[in-house]
Amino acid sequence: NVYKLEERLNYYNDRLLDGNLKSKELENATFVTLARNADLYDLIETINIYENRFNSKHNYPWVFLNDEPFTRTFEVVMSRLTSGPTYFGVVNSSEWDIPKWIDMDIAHSNWNRLSREGVLYGGMKSYRQMCRYFSGFFWRHPLLDPYKYYWRVEPSTKLLCEVNKDPFRQLRLLNKTYGFVITLFEIGQTVPSLWNSTLEFIEKYPETLAKNNLWEWISDDNGKKFSHCHFWSNFEIADLDFFRSDSYRKYFDFLDKKGGFFYERWGDAPVHSIALSLFLDRNKLHYFDEIGYSHAPLLHCPRKGRCFCKPEEIDLSSNSSCIARFINLTNEDYDEL
Ligand code: GDP
Ligand code: MN
Repeated sequence: NVYKLEERLNYYNDRLLDGNLKSKELENATFVTLARNADLYDLIETINIYENRFNSKHNYPWVFLNDEPFTRTFEVVMSRLTSGPTYFGVVNSSEWDIPKWIDMDIAHSNWNRLSREGVLYGGMKSYRQMCRYFSGFFWRHPLLDPYKYYWRVEPSTKLLCEVNKDPFRQLRLLNKTYGFVITLFEIGQTVPSLWNSTLEFIEKYPETLAKNNLWEWISDDNGKKFSHCHFWSNFEIADLDFFRSDSYRKYFDFLDKKGGFFYERWGDAPVHSIALSLFLDRNKLHYFDEIGYSHAPLLHCPRKGRCFCKPEEIDLSSNSSCIARFINLTNEDYDEL
């Protein structure tokens, strides 16, 4: 036991080198959560689960971002729940505010129409700001500068199984860029012009297309149409360098000037997914099949592992999922990972 204690102390000392909490045992990674102060109560349970089922064994840092300053209560409660260091950041208002080239009359009339059509968040301004922020800016936040990998966590989500392998390490060892759990189809009315804007972008910057990319997954009709397949981005474990890349920055700027984040309701999930599917070799994408995860109203319950859920059929058989199509187009051996 004395030996164990010493080992434990060394472990912490190692981690505290450079005041940076980095060591051989930790990947260069952090959790990241964008939240409002009002999300505090939904986050308490979520963070507790992520800590109990994974992070208390590793103590990865947690970065919280908000478009307004966090309350002292929020910061105190979150710091007590997390096992690693916590950082609280405010979003730069120039990255949150609606850009000046958006014609607000057009935007408002479209929001009213989408809202009448019953499209989820169709009339909401802040939701669009959030989607644009996740598309173009979260990865530029200075609090994320030190890190290579991030794990995005949202309020009210759950991990359904014990996480025994460090997913950050898996990404690095498997040489992957982006990991996801749930895939589904985007609501068509939210992205009517996203695919044509993408085709226009590719025509202008053909060098951004990767060899062996996943265009057959993201498009239909030989590339003419968006398949609406996307990785559900409320869960992401990925390499920030992808977003920091020249191709992705150019793509985001191009889309941003089109105005579809506001005139339509482009989500960060389809935007990330299209970029990932076109600018990367398909082998860089990783399905974290063994991670049990829920974000209402969907969940992924793995067949193996210490899980607190019933294996669901939704992933493989449901026609609301794109995972079968993904598996058919990639050659990952999921049982081996
Ligand atoms: P949904 O998953 O698409 O239904 O969208 P959510 O309401 O869960 O929002 C996605 C993420 O962005 C969550 O982490 C929210 O806490 C966060 N979020 C959404 N809107 C805002 C906002 O206006 N301000 C802040 N700070 N966070 C937001
Ligand atoms: Mn959510």
